[in-house]
Amino acid sequence: MSLYDLTPSELESFFVSIGEKNYRAKQVLDFLYRHPAKTFDEITTLPVELREKLGKISRLAPIRLRLKVESSDGAVKHAYEVESLAGKSGFLESVWMPSEYVDMDSVEENRNVKQIDDENEHRHAGRNTLCISSQLGCSAGCAFCASGAMGLKGQLSTGEIVYQVIDCIELYEKLPDTVLFMGMGEPMHNFDSVCAAVEILTHKDGPAMSPRRIVVSSAGELERLGAFHKRFPRVRLAISLNAATDAVRSRLMPVNDRYGIKAIESFIKSIDLARGEKVTLEYVVIKGLTDVPSQINALETFLVTLGNRVTVNLIPYNEVENKKFGTPNRERVYDIQRKLRQLGVNTFIRRNRGTSASAACGQLSGKL
Ligand code: SF4
Repeated sequence: MSLYDLTPSELESFFVSIGEKNYRAKQVLDFLYRHPAKTFDEITTLPVELREKLGKISRLAPIRLRLKVESSDGAVKHAYEVESLAGKSGFLESVWMPSEYVDMDSVEENRNVKQIDDENEHRHAGRNTLCISSQLGCSAGCAFCASGAMGLKGQLSTGEIVYQVIDCIELYEKLPDTVLFMGMGEPMHNFDSVCAAVEILTHKDGPAMSPRRIVVSSAGELERLGAFHKRFPRVRLAISLNAATDAVRSRLMPVNDRYGIKAIESFIKSIDLARGEKVTLEYVVIKGLTDVPSQINALETFLVTLGNRVTVNLIPYNEVENKKFGTPNRERVYDIQRKLRQLGVNTFIRRNRGTSASAACGQLSGKL
């Protein structure tokens, strides 16, 4: 067991369960979340005997960084070995997207295109974002996704999720400003660990992140997403929509057979949203499949009824080995953005960050 598996109150119970006072938890928390200790010896607020005892029955970092690959645009992919899943093939991956991201298209000659790029990029200015994984691989089987092609290799523990964030203190000397549960895995398929991880990340004695800086993305597991939203009403939700008709969405995402387009619409209308808060709809734009007029018309119809409850993120498809889908024409993506904005829907284009390190959306495959 790693101490990162425990919420602050569970840490207190843990100390009591091993015959220690519960205030020991407070003495350890700083060494987990403010100045992460690498060994129990570094936790100098604890007596030496207790440090030795802890070293015998628990551990600190639950995952080990094996590789860090920087993409040409500044995004960095981290590949971790998950010791609890030793023997399973694949590495756990997270992606750091620094605020000082270099816009590789800044040399773009077409000024209109550049203006649109700048406008989309501006949203992220000054913020470091970390995209983390909630499972090793994924069983959701989305047809366009490398993590889905891996299948599910194993569930991550709470600590294995949390430590992807905490390791940024070692790697970048700071925590990310925003954490996206959008890496490998369907967060709602690892519900308990994801909830405990969010509880820790937002806890005042933990990293104390604002829940508004956490985005949990689901392929559309609506029942559990509703339960998650009840528990963490201020954490931002994203749903992978990716197509606007059931026929095409079912082809891309098996979850659509259980929770189709109508169910998503009802879900978004039914949940309580604070003033100004929106659900993000992710829409992977695939050439000839989800960028065609019939899909965009259906998308417009779908969005009309949702008023100002959603923001749309258009994600130009990133090519994945052995997948037969195509990257859309940039102008077509801008055109879709323009159309949706004319409806009054906040629409952004997600920049393809990390592509050269296979770290962009849908490309995480667990391979070094
Ligand atoms: S898109 Fe998300 S839910 Fe779908 S297979 Fe990939 S990781 Fe799983």
